[in-house]
Amino acid sequence: MNCPCCSGKSYSDCCEPFHIGKSTAPTAEILMRSRYAAFALVLEDYLWETTTPLARKFHPKQEYKSWAIANQWQKLEIVNTPSFNQVEFKAYFVDEDGENQIHHELSKFERMDGKWYYAFGTFLD
Ligand SMILES: [Zn+2]
Repeated sequence: MNCPCCSGKSYSDCCEPFHIGKSTAPTAEILMRSRYAAFALVLEDYLWETTTPLARKFHPKQEYKSWAIANQWQKLEIVNTPSFNQVEFKAYFVDEDGENQIHHELSKFERMDGKWYYAFGTFLD
């Protein structure tokens, strides 16, 4: 299957090794892609584990799960990577009312002990 992160690669050559813990995402952008794919595949454990320990209290696992299930994830577009730890993206999805939505966010990531984590995001128009 094609990777849900829209890289054009197969899932096994793209985000699957990160999802199953075989390797870790080498850059913030690759982590971002793997987290989008995790929403599409409803992998709430992965989403929670790749959130900084400090930010986890704002992102309970169940919330990741219900947000992942509620929407149909259509497409990820990386808009810009303004620095090594920031990624601007647009996530295209159909919400539970069948409406097309675009989630446009500038996400900040942190690297700790050689692993990347999602820290927080700023919503953009
Ligand atoms: Zn991927």
